[in-house]
Amino acid sequence: MATNKIAIYPGSFDPVTYGHIDIIERAARLFDKLIVLVSINPVKPASFPLEERIDFLKRSLKHAKADNIEIDNNKGLFIDYFKRRKADVIVKGLRAMSDFEYEFQMALLNKDMCHTAETVFLSANAASMFLSSSAVRQIAMFGGDISAFVPHCIAGDIIEKLKKGVLP
Ligand code: ADP
Repeated sequence: MATNKIAIYPGSFDPVTYGHIDIIERAARLFDKLIVLVSINPVKPASFPLEERIDFLKRSLKHAKADNIEIDNNKGLFIDYFKRRKADVIVKGLRAMSDFEYEFQMALLNKDMCHTAETVFLSANAASMFLSSSAVRQIAMFGGDISAFVPHCIAGDIIEKLKKGVLP
């Protein structure tokens, strides 16, 4: 019996980094369809509006080596979206120790709310282990070089938008 496995990779992507892109490309190879879900996190206000974060992702994934990636957004409860899309798997990236406790809690809570929701953790690659959207934002605010952390096609826009708030 053929089964089509749908996976969802949720996050703020504020902004998307090479760490996220690595997880996206690897997850797209593991599942039949991967939905990259740009989400609103009420306890973590974003620096970039939802539309801009989606635009950064679209531009960054234009040349991704996969044709089974969909980018969508969700303003409500994640697990309701998960059920609506009849998805099978939640994909999460794990960096060093920092992500473990939070992501483990989320995996257990989601499983409680939907018994078929399996969370799959992909280890960050060595180069992205200490890379985070917030570090990129901090460097960009001071006009620093973020070209090693985010795709070239969005780096200029990120710096342009963030440095205005800090530099004279
Ligand atoms: P959130 O607001 O939910 O933390 P993020 O956009 O920061 O959203 O992250 C979304 C997912 O991507 C999380 O599972 C996070 O652990 C993972 N992630 C973030 N940065 C990296 C990275 N550098 N390498 C691997 N995974 C990462």
